[in-house]
Amino acid sequence: MTPRLSPTPALSVPLDHGALRDQFPILATQLHGRPLAYLDNAASTQQPREVIQAVSAYHQQYHANIHRGVYELSRNATRMHDYAREVVAHFLHAAEPAECLFTRGTTESINLVAATWGRANLRPGDEIILTELEHHSNIVPWQMVCAETGACIRVIPINDDGELDLAAYHRLLCSRTRLVAVNHVSNALGTVNPVREMIVDAHAVGALALIDGAQWVAHGPTDVQALDADFYAFSGHKLYGPTGIGVLYGKRSLLEAMPPYQGGGDMIERVTFAQTSYAQIPNRFEAGTPHIAGAVGLAAAIDWLEAIGFERVAEHEQGLLKRATERLGNIRGLDIKGTARNKAGVISWVISDPPLGTLDIGMQLDLRSICIRTGHHCCQPLMDRLGVSSTARASFALYNQLAEVERLADALEEIITAVRARVVPTAPNRAADHGGMAAPSEEFPQFPAAVAESPAAAAETIAEVFAILPDWPMRHQQIMDFGERLPPMPAALKTEAHFVPGCQSRVHLAARVRPGTDSVIEFLADSDAGIVRGLIALLQQLYSGQSAQDILAFDAQTFFSSLGLDAHLSMTRRNGLLSLLERIRQIAQRQVDAHPTA
Ligand SMILES: *Cc1c(COP(=O)(O)O)cnc(C)c1O
Repeated sequence: MTPRLSPTPALSVPLDHGALRDQFPILATQLHGRPLAYLDNAASTQQPREVIQAVSAYHQQYHANIHRGVYELSRNATRMHDYAREVVAHFLHAAEPAECLFTRGTTESINLVAATWGRANLRPGDEIILTELEHHSNIVPWQMVCAETGACIRVIPINDDGELDLAAYHRLLCSRTRLVAVNHVSNALGTVNPVREMIVDAHAVGALALIDGAQWVAHGPTDVQALDADFYAFSGHKLYGPTGIGVLYGKRSLLEAMPPYQGGGDMIERVTFAQTSYAQIPNRFEAGTPHIAGAVGLAAAIDWLEAIGFERVAEHEQGLLKRATERLGNIRGLDIKGTARNKAGVISWVISDPPLGTLDIGMQLDLRSICIRTGHHCCQPLMDRLGVSSTARASFALYNQLAEVERLADALEEIITAVRARVVPTAPNRAADHGGMAAPSEEFPQFPAAVAESPAAAAETIAEVFAILPDWPMRHQQIMDFGERLPPMPAALKTEAHFVPGCQSRVHLAARVRPGTDSVIEFLADSDAGIVRGLIALLQQLYSGQSAQDILAFDAQTFFSSLGLDAHLSMTRRNGLLSLLERIRQIAQRQVDAHPTA
């Protein structure tokens, strides 16, 4: 069967927004009895039925390895893969398909340029200009190649609105500048950067320009020739396509002069043990069997999006952004981060009055089936510049509705009102209640004593409490309630040495051996997130006042999964529960090592 390469004539472009949403099966999902409001499109977009079906049809009818077979099935798969490259080239207005390399995504595209062009061209003293808005994918590969070559990184600062300081950019540009690498749109703040002008300026000093287009390509038309971009990178999964597929565009003259990236099959012309000559572009940079199904899905996503047209995309998404900015801007105590004049459909914020950790915001919204992103958004240098450790972020796609924006804003108002209504001040503020003077508890902090004769006995009591709470929202509330009763941790104990890294919120833990004993460990801990304070309270009930041996003997991870925590909290990265546990166990281990017979 000959594969269908171009979209069916019937590729439906519903004018009605409801019908457009219906093309996304996942949006019909109900969570906690409410429809899903998916507002994390800057992390990944959902896929329309056209894409899912194109990938499925490929697997069901056309799959074979490409470039290898003399048989028809392989020839067809090869044609589908070639067609996908043509679709990409057309989408980017590249001069020819060969300039569009398939990669795993933006991250790999940037790493490819750093590893090949960077290693071959950078010398000690050369400079690469980045911006304060960059994603870690457009920072770390450059740090790696700078460490190898002796080149160095210069950074364009932003103003308080999250816009690049172009005067500073012009001051940084000089004869040592080899490359300017900048995102087209900031994933954390939504700022649309003036990349066309920045490329002109880079070229004027003889530097190249790489544009990280991960956050742009789904939201506006891209013309790499009009931009005169030297390299342009994007990912399929932020463009209504599959994960694991992305693109690096590069000008032919540059790609041809670059050494290969990975060695292997499909990238060679002739191999002997003495010497290998390499294939022409694009194959030279695509060693091994590529993600054929991913390329097919990406082409289907591009066809789908182009059939809708960027005019409609921009109008719809800007409408959502405008409404979100109005509603969130009117919520007292909520600060929007990133107020650039030219923004894509991304809105980031923190809630400072009452102080509410972004992790709590995310989890409270999750309980209302609203998906947003919280954290540093892979932009830690930007968070440092903004003076926050993380933000909450909603990001819009074509299928989002105004009703979802209203739901988000209503939920935020409700959450803030609920926190305000609580009388108990949250722990981080208590030190301030004493007019800057050390409170009595600062000098004699109350380290919590044991609540049971062993961690296992404490665990039984906790398990009984959880057993009568039937669902996750109730268990979540129980953990939050535990957190509200957490003994205060004096500010004086929140030192660098007591900081626990690896948590999304700011967490400190201070432990001591109870005076007069060899091995009884007590600890205080605190966090700026209520959910983490709740988890700390759980850890205290289990461990504080227990002997080091008993602490080491207790299997907390199994206990936490029996409570159902790992189904609802991603244990490793987000809440730092495991980092806290690890810290407590290390302290216990040191004590056991120091007093083996105790
Ligand atoms: C998502 C993103 C990346 C990384 O993309 P991957 O698909 O994870 O490789 C890089 N830069 C920006 C601006 C992004 O938003």
